[in-house]
Amino acid sequence: MTTKPNPVPILTPLPPDGAVLRRRAVAVRHVDAYVKQIIGQMKATLRARDDGVGLAAPQIGIPLRIIVYRENPRAAIKTLVNPEFLPVRVRHESKVAEETAEEQCLSLPGLSLEIPRKTFVWVQGRNEDGRLEQYPASGFVARILQHGVDHLEGVLLTDRSLHGDEAASRVAQQAPVRELMEAA
Ligand SMILES: [Zn+2]
Repeated sequence: MTTKPNPVPILTPLPPDGAVLRRRAVAVRHVDAYVKQIIGQMKATLRARDDGVGLAAPQIGIPLRIIVYRENPRAAIKTLVNPEFLPVRVRHESKVAEETAEEQCLSLPGLSLEIPRKTFVWVQGRNEDGRLEQYPASGFVARILQHGVDHLEGVLLTDRSLHGDEAASRVAQQAPVRELMEAA
């Protein structure tokens, strides 16, 4: 019997459960039934959020190296298990620059921070069938992937923000956001 996975709550860095967002996630050994079940839950959770384009397993309390993402809220959701960035080949080096843009995170509701990211990456990881894939990503998708891999290292937007405290204090007017920033 198979049951359709349901969306699960997305954690913020607040105690008691938020500490998982600050830990380095563990590599997946096999894309087995358990891992597929987690991927199903992650996809259902992301699908339920029309304001989200990416989700990492630690955000639902699972300390494993899995991310799901989509190019926009209407696009199909892709999976990367054990994602890593490979060196960019010489012929693509001219595409690699740094670009700063406003970024949000489902684990930091209400927060929008200017984050510098690489404009081009070459990512490798396993898809949800366990097959190894390698492909380039640029622009917004490259940004989503870098944000996702940051989550697997326990890194949050507040660590990467260009204007750190200044930008943070601007958005931290509301008490819940301030509480989140302090926890992050
Ligand atoms: Zn995030």
